[in-house]
Amino acid sequence: MNVLVLNSGSSTLRFQIIDTDLERIEGDADRRLSRGLVERIGGHALLRLESEGRGVVHEDAPLRDHRAAVDRVLRWIVSEESSIESVTSIADIHAVGHRVVHGGERFRGSVRLDADVMREIEECNALAPLHNPANLRGIRAAEDLLGPGVPQVAVFDTAFHTTMPPAAYLYGIPYSLYRRRGIRRYGFHGTSHRYVAYRYRQHMGIPREDVNVITLHLGNGCSACAIRRGDSVDTSMGFTPLEGLLMGTRCGDLDPSIVEFLALEEGMQFTEIDSLLNKQSGLLGISGLTSDMRELLREEEENQDRRARLAIEVFCYRVRKYVGAYLAAMGGADAVIFTAGIGENSPEIRGRICSGLEWMGLELDPKRNAAAHDGVTAEIGRDGSRVRALVIPTDEELLIARDTVRVLEGAPLPGFAR
Ligand code: AMP
Repeated sequence: MNVLVLNSGSSTLRFQIIDTDLERIEGDADRRLSRGLVERIGGHALLRLESEGRGVVHEDAPLRDHRAAVDRVLRWIVSEESSIESVTSIADIHAVGHRVVHGGERFRGSVRLDADVMREIEECNALAPLHNPANLRGIRAAEDLLGPGVPQVAVFDTAFHTTMPPAAYLYGIPYSLYRRRGIRRYGFHGTSHRYVAYRYRQHMGIPREDVNVITLHLGNGCSACAIRRGDSVDTSMGFTPLEGLLMGTRCGDLDPSIVEFLALEEGMQFTEIDSLLNKQSGLLGISGLTSDMRELLREEEENQDRRARLAIEVFCYRVRKYVGAYLAAMGGADAVIFTAGIGENSPEIRGRICSGLEWMGLELDPKRNAAAHDGVTAEIGRDGSRVRALVIPTDEELLIARDTVRVLEGAPLPGFAR
């Protein structure tokens, strides 16, 4: 079954075509036929298109909206130019899986899209005013262009975290605001945390109930998740993805009074403060240089840049603090798992995060840590380390494609609480 995976942002569209079905899932034999990214939708858009047959192609084109972007992508996919043998017409796309950012408290798993589900996603728009409407535009565009006969499935960033207990998701503000406005911790990156927890379970050959781990998704966006008996019991992102760890450009944890202080003392508007905290903070804000961890490490090493070093220190310290907090919250964990751009690729950062955690039984093996490489699950802890350490590459698109198949076939969705 050829599944089109769509992830539509406010001015972007990411896509993949993955050939998968229950048999391929069983044998871990899914095939990625094509992938790409459209940026600057709404103006002169930039496209990066890649297929098994053709390698990478860069293009640009005026694309008015998401419908035009999905249309352009579909035309390329079925064209001779992409050279995808098994997809030569629209009829070869059998289903669509969508990443949807916010499913509120309503969606506890992945679901087939219909008018009712669309309405319920729309009801979550206030909780994710930039993301959910963009996701819905992607869904409508795909329905328009592929026709109502092609089934579509929604996979939510928040769903995996719906198992959190109230002690973890309630903020210390009047309870009526939770009831009336839904102000609580929702958490994000759920598809990634769920995917690596599932891979850990496969790697260890254990049942879901025996998965007691802390997963660290460290990329441009960063979040930690405490997983006990297979369920997310706490996570660092909150009502929005702004809370928690220090990220590329987001501040993470912050005293809320700073917002008022900035408004009064700096004369800033709320939209300016929002932009400051989301786009000009984090690694970029502290270093004053870049949000890119690779560049910061280079600046630190080659130029002994003080603020690059500070940014990296704050980053690692914050992660370490969350690991300690979650160990206490969970009553101990069997493993700490690193994933996403930084987590998968930087032995240096993994080493700095874990340094000083030997007392709690987490000891890295420097050789194994340095040898962990692209795309492969690797144990990086010392033999005998009480808490294991692993690198497990994430693949949200693959999980979305697999969930799409499973929802349509009525098969159970691994990793979700039943
Ligand atoms: P992601 O959002 O998962 O694509 O992750 C992006 C982040 O991963 C950026 O901060 C990159 O600098 C970082 N990254 C990618 N490769 C490396 C590497 N080899 N060392 C350090 N950071 C890396």
